[in-house]
Amino acid sequence: MSLVGADRSELAALLEPRPDAPLRAKQIARHIYQRGASDFDQMSDLPAELRENLAARTRIMPLEVASELESSDGVRKLLVHGGDHQVVECVLLPYEDRVSCCVSTQVGCPMGCRFCATGLGGYDRNLTAGEIVGQVLLLQQRSSRRISHLAMMGMGEPLLNLPNLLKALRLLHDEVGMSYRNLTVSTVGIVPQIEALAEAKLPIHLALSLHSPLDEVRDALMPVNHKWPVAEVMAAMRSYQRVTGRKITIEYLLIGDITDTPEQAAALARLVRGVPSVVNLIPFNWVDTGEGFKRPDRGRVRAFRGILEAQRVNVTERVERGHDIAAACGQLAGQHVGRFARRHGPSVLPVLSS
Ligand code: SAH
Ligand code: SF4
Repeated sequence: MSLVGADRSELAALLEPRPDAPLRAKQIARHIYQRGASDFDQMSDLPAELRENLAARTRIMPLEVASELESSDGVRKLLVHGGDHQVVECVLLPYEDRVSCCVSTQVGCPMGCRFCATGLGGYDRNLTAGEIVGQVLLLQQRSSRRISHLAMMGMGEPLLNLPNLLKALRLLHDEVGMSYRNLTVSTVGIVPQIEALAEAKLPIHLALSLHSPLDEVRDALMPVNHKWPVAEVMAAMRSYQRVTGRKITIEYLLIGDITDTPEQAAALARLVRGVPSVVNLIPFNWVDTGEGFKRPDRGRVRAFRGILEAQRVNVTERVERGHDIAAACGQLAGQHVGRFARRHGPSVLPVLSS
């Protein structure tokens, strides 16, 4: 088994019946989650016999690094796998005032969004809590500054992996020492899971990948909309906002001539009116989807933004980074599309009873 992914009580259980199990569990947790230990020899405050015993029975990290790339703007991308050679990607994003990262929650994704490299590749499996936290720890080992922010915006739909996601969020808070307020989960909009996340009452930040306020457009781009259309998913987001008191983010992908129309800007402004929220505009990163999607013209992006701002909607635009290493969201593991899930047949919407 791997130690990364285990919480304090699981670490202590592993050490029982030693009478000092709780103390040793605390020391081990500090080594693996805070100091980034990659070797048992680095745990010099543990007795040698315990280190040997652990080394014989366990390993620290559930992930191996398959390759890594560094972009000219300091963005670093790792391709990692959990022993099965099914790679997922994670990205380190240093900014002047903070260091952020973007991690994956599944190998591939079953949601099949038409514009997304991950979605086009299909789905293989959920990542474990240790594999989710492990990505952050591997990125931290490569950063001289502390990672303070995290977005679950890599490969996969986080809310289809809720138990592991919740455990990972708790470990990042309790053991790694990150603030819940700096942890963002991005979802395609799985209504029952948004409600389940709200019940967990963690003050994390939730982002919805909306991409169009119109059902007919969203239906054509995102199969999930057939099951949970715009009105239903927005109702779930509004209730999440009320329960947690946190502003929600609406992610809005601008695809040239498809989602960037003035009508959709006006409808979006109506949809978020009165909801404490931020709309984050994301220009489409070119992925060969075979559908002829294109990036939006600058002028249309400005006009779209102008319509929202005239209605006093809070708007941000995603700063694109790591272009030369294809580190943008939705392009992660783009080069590996089709490696896994094609074997498992075409993408299908996971059947979740609502
Ligand atoms: N499954 C979750 C989280 C991972 S995707 C979700 O969909 O929210 C992270 C973000 O990247 C989502 O907002 C997604 O819509 C966006 N994205 C996907 N493909 C993209 C592309 N080609 N260009 C720009 N953003 C893209
Ligand atoms: Fe999955 Fe998100 Fe990509 Fe849609 S956009 S296929 S939900 S990773």
